[in-house]
Amino acid sequence: MSDTPDWLTLGASHVWRPYCQMKTAPPPLPVAAARGARLILEDGRELIDGIASWWTACHGYNHPHIRGAVEAQLARVPHVMFGGLAHEPAYRLARRLAELLPGDLGRVFFAESGSVSVEIAMKMALQFWINRGVAGRTRFVSFLGGYHGDTLATMSVCDPDEGMHALFKGVLAPQHVVPLPTGPETEAGLERLLAERGDEIAAIVVEPRVQGAGGMRFLDDAVLRRLRRLAVAHDVLLIFDEIFVGFGRTGDLFACQGADVTPDIITLSKALTGGTLPLSAAIASERIFEAFWSDDPGAALMHGPTYMANPLACAAANASLDLFETGAWKADVARIAAALGEGLAPCRDGRGVVDVRVRGAIGVIEFDHALDAGALSRRFAELGVWIRPMGRLIYLTPPFVISDAELERLTQAIRQVLSGL
Ligand SMILES: *Cc1c(COP(=O)(O)O)cnc(C)c1O
Repeated sequence: MSDTPDWLTLGASHVWRPYCQMKTAPPPLPVAAARGARLILEDGRELIDGIASWWTACHGYNHPHIRGAVEAQLARVPHVMFGGLAHEPAYRLARRLAELLPGDLGRVFFAESGSVSVEIAMKMALQFWINRGVAGRTRFVSFLGGYHGDTLATMSVCDPDEGMHALFKGVLAPQHVVPLPTGPETEAGLERLLAERGDEIAAIVVEPRVQGAGGMRFLDDAVLRRLRRLAVAHDVLLIFDEIFVGFGRTGDLFACQGADVTPDIITLSKALTGGTLPLSAAIASERIFEAFWSDDPGAALMHGPTYMANPLACAAANASLDLFETGAWKADVARIAAALGEGLAPCRDGRGVVDVRVRGAIGVIEFDHALDAGALSRRFAELGVWIRPMGRLIYLTPPFVISDAELERLTQAIRQVLSGL
């Protein structure tokens, strides 16, 4: 941080940073380049990345295959509107996603961010009932510990207290945010809610396998099967938000496919383009799509983001899928899971640590108190790693291409910082 670049100093009073009390937070680290599992700072230092830029950079940074695909597409057509026009990268990507997803999840609606794809999934669910002539299905069921985005509708289905949106309680649409049905009692509670209020509920929204930004809590596949059963029994739709877990993070390409539970709508983003460009998708089953297929123009889904299906982003996503097709990621995720299990186990004895858990390429250390993310990530950077605590958690979600030696340096840095707490 000795030689701070001019652009950082000059722009600092004009950029509004994310999730940040800017008055007290340390300045951000200036990144000059990124490759593989490494961030290269302006002063030449290299940090091993434990976060993969919010779980997006699954194949590592600047992967030549993805870069090549984006460069080729850039030379052809960087963007055209998706209303009335079509292009090969999007149509190919939609077909490939439909082939990879279980069941008949096959109607792909593209957008630019995860939050917007969840908004679209919610809008699809609401209009599904309207189009079928069913009135009053205006609410959603979602779960404590869940996180689905930062926009107004998605905030309403986040955990109202644990999440980052407690300030807006009075503004957000009231939803039923309830405990996950992990045992007989919570299952009975949800069953009761659906029996009594099912006729006002459009859909259940859940992050399968891992609740990400809401606290990195893990849930069994049995919970997902329970939700599928309850949704069918009470005739409400089921939305899986796989923006965090999709694309291999838990060891299966998609959690729904690994758990053998097919939702009515799934949302994808984060690792969809391998961390290269913003892109998301809300993907519906044929049953959902059929409710919009009509001679009545009013039954259409009136939605269309300006940069919908951006060709550069779709080219990046197709290239990312090529890399998944090699299958190498699967062994990498298993290797990372084993290394995280071993490397983080000693943290159980750390001060204030209440839990250490690993699922797939996700390692979590939970504390009994909130952590100072700014100060701790500074300390980690001094040790040559990029790790950014979140709430009461220190977590690792590294790129799948990270080497064993780099992984060891990540867990070693955490052990070292914990011993000093
Ligand atoms: C990140 C995330 C979102 C929001 O995506 P953005 O691209 O940040 O809008 C929604 N749901 C889950 C599960 C996420 O991890």
